[in-house]
Amino acid sequence: MDFMTGEITKLYSYETRLQTFNGWPFEEDCSCTPENMARAGFVHTPSGNSPDVAQCFFCLKELEGWEPEDDPMKEHKAHSPHCDFVALKKPVEELTVEEFLKLQKERQKFQIRKTCNQGIDKFQEAVTVRRGQIIKTSMGED
Ligand SMILES: [Zn+2]
Repeated sequence: MDFMTGEITKLYSYETRLQTFNGWPFEEDCSCTPENMARAGFVHTPSGNSPDVAQCFFCLKELEGWEPEDDPMKEHKAHSPHCDFVALKKPVEELTVEEFLKLQKERQKFQIRKTCNQGIDKFQEAVTVRRGQIIKTSMGED
């Protein structure tokens, strides 16, 4: 499908996701191989002290602390039951353009929700800091 090669849509491709699993700690004799991870919609998003972080490209759910016997598809459904990607009944390649666009719309909702929640978290952190300053100031005045 042509529109899967664009910057925004490239992660719909299994191959693209698979390529991110460089240095993934589970390679053989386990359920969460790079292939199974990529098939379940995950991309590898390691950070300094967490080499096994994976994120669903669609619902943006991050999971870490993988065990060799974990089934990526099952874990994905268990931790993100509303992910439309993991609920797909057929491969992305076989979707019609209409179906694909509908799916992408749902993906954008997840992205917007995540951005909003990050904004709210930041605001609440700022409130906590400010409240601490106000309490300190008012106690200083006593
Ligand atoms: Zn997902």
